Amino acid sequence: MANDSYENAIAGLTKLLSEKGHLGDVAAAKIRQITSDLEAAGSDQFDPLERIKSGFLHFKTEKYEKNPELYGELAKGQSPKFLVFACSDSRVCPSHILNYQPGEAFVVRNIANMVPPYDQKKYSGVGAAIEYAVLHLKVENIVVIGHSCCGGIKGLMSIPDDGTTASDFIENWVQICASAKNKVKSECGDLSFTDQCTNLEKEAVNVSLGNLLTYPFVREALVKNTLSLKGAHYDFVKGTFDLWNLDFKISSPLLNV
Ligand SMILES: [Zn+2]
Repeated sequence: MANDSYENAIAGLTKLLSEKGHLGDVAAAKIRQITSDLEAAGSDQFDPLERIKSGFLHFKTEKYEKNPELYGELAKGQSPKFLVFACSDSRVCPSHILNYQPGEAFVVRNIANMVPPYDQKKYSGVGAAIEYAVLHLKVENIVVIGHSCCGGIKGLMSIPDDGTTASDFIENWVQICASAKNKVKSECGDLSFTDQCTNLEKEAVNVSLGNLLTYPFVREALVKNTLSLKGAHYDFVKGTFDLWNLDFKISSPLLNV
C-alpha cells in the first residue's frame, strides 16, 4: 500500500513536470532535499555534514531563492534597527523567537546574555560589537534578552560566598552580574533556589543595561535620543516574553505576552 502511494506520488510528479517543464529546477532541489532528509532519517548515526548540507539547502530553496528582493538589498549592505544581546543557549535564538529576518538585528550572543562594562583590554570583543552597531550601523535599539532556565545564571547563583571558582572562564565571566546576584540574595533570600535564579535572570539584564551606559558612544546616542535601551526576558517553559525600559519596574512592563 505504501509502495502504491509512493508510485502514485512519483507518477503525479512526472505528469506535472511533463506539463510544466519549467518547474524542473525547483523539483530537483526539493527532491535533493527529500533525499538528504531521508538519508539522515534512515541513518542511526548523526551526520553533522549532512545536517549542515540539508539545512542550507532548505534555507536556500525555501527562503533565499524565494526572496530575491530581500537578499538583493542585503547584498548591498545592512542597516539593522536592533542590536540584540542574547544567551548562547541553543533554545533562545532571537531570530527565531522574535521572527527577525536577515538584516534586522545585529546580534551578540554569549553565556547568560551579559554586557560587560567598558574595558578595552578585558572585553574588547563585546566592546567592538557595540561600537560597530552604535557608531557605524546606527542601530536605534539595544535589547538585552534574558531567558528561563539559564545555565549561566544558575552558575552565577551557585558561586559560593567565598568566591571559590572551578572553571577557567565561565564563573569569571558571569560575575559581570555579581551585583545583581547580591541584590537577589538580599531581597529574595527566602525564595527557592529556582525562583531566585528566575529573579536573577531579570536583574542581570538590568545590570547589563546599566553597563551599556559605561560606553561613551552609547551615552551620547541616548542623550541625542537616537537610541533606546530595553531589557527583556523570554520564558520558554511558559512561552512568554516580557519587555521593559532601562528603568525597570516590574509593575509596569512595556509588553507582557
Ligand atoms: Zn542562558
